[in-house]
Amino acid sequence: MYRFQSRIVDRMRVGRVLLAGDLAHLVAPFGARGLNSGVQDAENAAWKLAFVRRGWAGDGLLSSYHDERHAAAVENLDVTGATMRFLVPGTDEERRHRLSTLERAATDPAAHAQVDSGRLAEPFWYTDSPLTTPDPARAGTGRPPRGSLPPAGPGVLVPDAPVAVAGRRTRLRALARDGFLLLTTDTAAAAAPSFGVAAAGVPVRLLSLPDIDRTGALTAALTARPGELWVIRPDAHVAAVLREPAVTAALRRALGAG
Ligand SMILES: Cc1cc2nc3c(=O)[nH]c(=O)nc-3n(C[C@H](O)[C@H](O)[C@H](O)COP(=O)(O)OP(=O)(O)OC[C@H]3O[C@@H](n4cnc5c(N)ncnc54)[C@H](O)[C@@H]3O)c2cc1C
Repeated sequence: MYRFQSRIVDRMRVGRVLLAGDLAHLVAPFGARGLNSGVQDAENAAWKLAFVRRGWAGDGLLSSYHDERHAAAVENLDVTGATMRFLVPGTDEERRHRLSTLERAATDPAAHAQVDSGRLAEPFWYTDSPLTTPDPARAGTGRPPRGSLPPAGPGVLVPDAPVAVAGRRTRLRALARDGFLLLTTDTAAAAAPSFGVAAAGVPVRLLSLPDIDRTGALTAALTARPGELWVIRPDAHVAAVLREPAVTAALRRALGAG
């Protein structure tokens, strides 16, 4: 007999303390969301602590740890709760629902997706985070339907695509780790050696998608369009997608390409 609990704390940040992992949230193991979400808590906290300690950001960045990771824990509880209601129905209604779904699924492939034997862990989408700038041109950035994989956009983790910088092969998420990564679809803008935000001491790297993504596979996966600037956080989630941003336009002009 295996027992588990579904629990969540009210606050994941209390003063100088950040709560993470099973200490902050406990879920049923179906879906592999326990350890995965604990690691994502740590990943979320790590860059925020580093930025605040180095004076690159204020206390508000630490508060966003609760906003982002508590929302992720609530989603994990919702998903694993639904699985458990299907696998171990607690009421007559839940039992009837399970039986009718299984009976339909025996002959109707369209009903297969309703057989809830666990939805594997996915990185949470910080679409409603105070750190994320929504992009009205990218509709439907909420949680995708089960089994679908929509393209990246604000709040979403970028694919860990292979890229090359100055001939050296690496991966996109590894590139993102050192600070904020700005990806432009414009080669002329990326020729500029520095970028305005770097003046505040925050490490910011500007790269051009056409330069690092010679095959175009990443650009296609992101659905990045000409004239866009992708702002990527150190945990490789997209903070914003800006179009024809003033700074890019100014750099293009200053480089004689505008
Ligand atoms: C049967 C089962 C299957 C699972 N399968 C998966 C899976 O497939 N995928 C997945 O993502 N997750 C899975 N999980 C969940 C996963 O194991 C946990 O979410 C994860 O281990 C939590 O990590 P943690 O570091 O937060 O806590 P823990 O792993 O519980 O670590 C806490 C540590 O603190 C120590 N400790 C406690 N009190 C003290 C103290 N006073 N002083 C010093 N040390 C102390 C404990 O001994 C322990 O080593 C599963 C869990 C179970 C039970």
